[in-house]
Amino acid sequence: MNFSLSEQLYKELINNNFEPAVKQEDADVIIINACSVRQHAEDKVFQRINYFKNLKKQKNLKLIVTGCFAQNQKDNADADVVLGTYHINEIPDLLLNEVDNKVDTEMNKYVFMEPVPEPGYEFRSMVDITVGCDNFCTYCIVPYVRGRQISRKSKDIIDSIKKLVDNGVVEVTLLGQNVNSYGLDSNDIPFSELLRLINDKTDIKRIKFLTSHPKDFTDDIIDAVFTLNKVSKYIHLPVQSGSNKILKAMNRKYTIEHYFEIIDKIRSYKQEFAISTDLLIGFPGETEKDFMETIEVVKKVEYDEAYMFKYSPRPHTAAEKFKESLSEQEKKERLNYLIDVQKNIEKKNITKHLNKKRTVLIEGVSKKSDKEFIGKDELNKTVVVGTKADVGKFYNVTINNYKGVTLLGELN
Ligand code: SAH
Ligand code: SF4
Repeated sequence: MNFSLSEQLYKELINNNFEPAVKQEDADVIIINACSVRQHAEDKVFQRINYFKNLKKQKNLKLIVTGCFAQNQKDNADADVVLGTYHINEIPDLLLNEVDNKVDTEMNKYVFMEPVPEPGYEFRSMVDITVGCDNFCTYCIVPYVRGRQISRKSKDIIDSIKKLVDNGVVEVTLLGQNVNSYGLDSNDIPFSELLRLINDKTDIKRIKFLTSHPKDFTDDIIDAVFTLNKVSKYIHLPVQSGSNKILKAMNRKYTIEHYFEIIDKIRSYKQEFAISTDLLIGFPGETEKDFMETIEVVKKVEYDEAYMFKYSPRPHTAAEKFKESLSEQEKKERLNYLIDVQKNIEKKNITKHLNKKRTVLIEGVSKKSDKEFIGKDELNKTVVVGTKADVGKFYNVTINNYKGVTLLGELN
């Protein structure tokens, strides 16, 4: 989400004749748009702010902090301007009017900025369809720093995507904390219908979306994914834990049995698909048995990719008051064990892609050789091809080898 908003802000600044600095040390203005989901993220931002404060002693520099970090740390963020999540769009005006100091973290009216082609990857774009979240998972700060869910109007989303297509964009990633509950806050069309409209009524070539929530990942959405030709068969479906006790304590509102019903339903379409997840290790009260249940889920589902995190208590959240049952060391050991299990699964499963025919969107030249081109297939797998190919174009490719967890293919 921050990445997407930073790009929108960047384009807005360029449109207002600001120029990107080559080195951060040369900049007159530095904008930090940062995350507050985990403590670790915040710690890193405080370090960056300190670095820039030292730089400020040597030169004239305006330091602006925004994003959910700013929302959460408005009293501790030592910057000239501190703008919460509802105010990032105000930055260009603020610079044009040479406002030197300002703090604003009010959350009254949210204004969606226009989605933009990704700088450097002008053939693709992230499109925010919702902001905020209503779910209040007990570990999560997002509903407090990004507010309640607000869906962008479906008509505006479609119009934006049409404009992006006119500007050469071929792939969009629809973004939201829980895209599956799109429209519920505003009585707009449901998410499956939005997918259908974008698929049928725009000339975009590929549609991806992030993030899905198991409690809202309904049959109509699964059906849309597997029947609409432009939708990537790639599903990011965070499970967080394999233990029903922990899922309940997390307020995730589904059981692990329900999660497996979703997986079965997905498999029933008998099409190739990829699935990824988020896993949160060391939640208060997580016993060895609970942890092993998570390991079991990971082994059963065989995720293509997993984002694995060590729990850290966050302000405002319900779990902040839960007594932590594990030491940092124990959490770290569990996390490392889990990472190992997941890595082995990824390694083992890479061979199943061999000889498969895929459609690859070429994203750039490989860092290792200018004769190799790198792209993503419809399962969101990275594929390297050894023949000259145009960036931003789709190619039919047969997978004929692999290196680590990267697929190698040849153009058909
Ligand atoms: N909306 C998405 C997640 C956004 S936060 C969803 O519901 O899946 C991204 C991930 O950060 C979460 O899935 C969770 O695994 C992790 N996370 C959230 N709060 C955390 C915390 N307090 N400590 C560690 N990881 C956390
Ligand atoms: Fe956080 Fe849960 Fe909302 Fe995701 S669904 S943003 S984890 S509260």
